[in-house]
Amino acid sequence: MTKNQILIYDTTLRDGTQGEQTNFSAEEKLRIAKRLDEAHFHYIEGGWPGSNPKDMRFFEMAKVVKFKNSRLTAFGSTRRPHTKPQACPNLKALVKAGTPACALVGKSWDLHVTEILKTDLDENLAMITDSIEYLKSMGKEVLFDAEHFFDGYKNNPRYTTKVVKTALAAGADVIVLCDTNGGSMPHEISAIVQKIASSFPLNIAGIHTHNDCGMAVANSIAAVQEGVKMVQGTINGYGERCGNADLISVVANLQLKMGKQCLPLESIRQLTNLSHYVSDVANAPPLNARPFVGRSAFAHKGGVHVSAVVKNSMAYEHIEPELVGNHRRVLVSDLAGKSNVEYKAKELGINLAKNDAMSKKIVHEVKLMEDRGFQFDSADGSLSVLIKKAIGEFVEPFTLESFNVVTSRSENTPCLSQATIKISVDGEEELTAAEGNGPVNALDHALRKALTKFYPQIGEMHLVDFKVRTLEGSEGTAASVRVLLDSTDGEDVWSTIGVSENIIEASWQALVDSIEYKLSKDKMNGK
Ligand SMILES: [Zn+2]
Repeated sequence: MTKNQILIYDTTLRDGTQGEQTNFSAEEKLRIAKRLDEAHFHYIEGGWPGSNPKDMRFFEMAKVVKFKNSRLTAFGSTRRPHTKPQACPNLKALVKAGTPACALVGKSWDLHVTEILKTDLDENLAMITDSIEYLKSMGKEVLFDAEHFFDGYKNNPRYTTKVVKTALAAGADVIVLCDTNGGSMPHEISAIVQKIASSFPLNIAGIHTHNDCGMAVANSIAAVQEGVKMVQGTINGYGERCGNADLISVVANLQLKMGKQCLPLESIRQLTNLSHYVSDVANAPPLNARPFVGRSAFAHKGGVHVSAVVKNSMAYEHIEPELVGNHRRVLVSDLAGKSNVEYKAKELGINLAKNDAMSKKIVHEVKLMEDRGFQFDSADGSLSVLIKKAIGEFVEPFTLESFNVVTSRSENTPCLSQATIKISVDGEEELTAAEGNGPVNALDHALRKALTKFYPQIGEMHLVDFKVRTLEGSEGTAASVRVLLDSTDGEDVWSTIGVSENIIEASWQALVDSIEYKLSKDKMNGK
């Protein structure tokens, strides 16, 4: 291992799933694991085989997968008090998981031993020794997770140090220092890591932090600065309570800001994709403000910022967005002037700078629509479609003949919506019907069903978020609603918008824009 190498240990599939909203099936876990392997993560913690049948099934399925770059790891706890390790079902499940490495969690805070586990301090040490020796005798690499290490050290440093030394003496390969409650500050992490460094070499130490103080990434970085060689965390920071350290930020910071080597450069350029992929599988809308990879991470709204960034991107950007696979976005809103529209058009391969009249016409149209409640800074998909239409470069992919949506419920059946739709493509008519759990859902299904015959790539896309907001009507007018849709095709995420007094009409506008955006994007990319 080179001096600058930091090992990246992903626990999205285990600690990540402790998050309130995060659930993966065994099959989804396997898809994510393969993706992490492709990205050269050093360790992938797949789950806790002793705690549930789903994780057991994941490890069974993983046995036939050849991981090229990552070591698959199974997680479990030390043997129960006063039992033999070979009789402990949890340790047996760890062995049966068939992974080259095991993460073994043990208590390192005396309070947890006596008050939670209700056993004595010496028995806890014996549990650690027996469990590690047992796993080592089975040929496993053992990473010992010292649970509550930092809280333990603050309260009883002698006992916590003894726990670490016991694990090492039993043959642990890596000692992972855990801030399990997420309550530590970076300066505390630094000071405690410095002190423990006299007990064992930090080149076999790892750090595992939680984000309860918003410090998980900072704490991981602080530990690395002191010499720790492994960082544990999750993609997008998913995890219990406020989450784990977000490995996306950890890796980007260590590699791009601190000159450490975590993943190959190609994987760093895929971080945005990876983040979106995992949020897609988790069915969680991607967070726009996520550092490095969020859609807003390199978005510029104010006209002054935009003209500055056009001159020199360093003026308002801390890195080149492409380094992490993200891209610069210029938001067009009522703050915007011609330069924003021109920039947006350039992204679409259209040079508007030469066509002053056209730029002015588009800005004028945007402003009129914003007056009606449209908001293009959060709907770049709709804006792209609008620009293409304005310059006459847009061929309507289909024509709506009619649609009809009904919602019904009776005493004993739940509410169900049905939509029928008639469209035509190049004169060929298509009539379909579909159901949904709501009227918009039914309409979305019916429209896509009708179009898939003509445009099979529509099968790649789906909605990830649907937001509705009521806009106050101005004097004498009814209130209207604004619908914002986020769609994805696994590669990109885009937003589209619709505004109407009728929620179905507003949703329809946003749905059509979303499909038109996808088709024109694919066409531009030669698909
Ligand atoms: Zn944790």
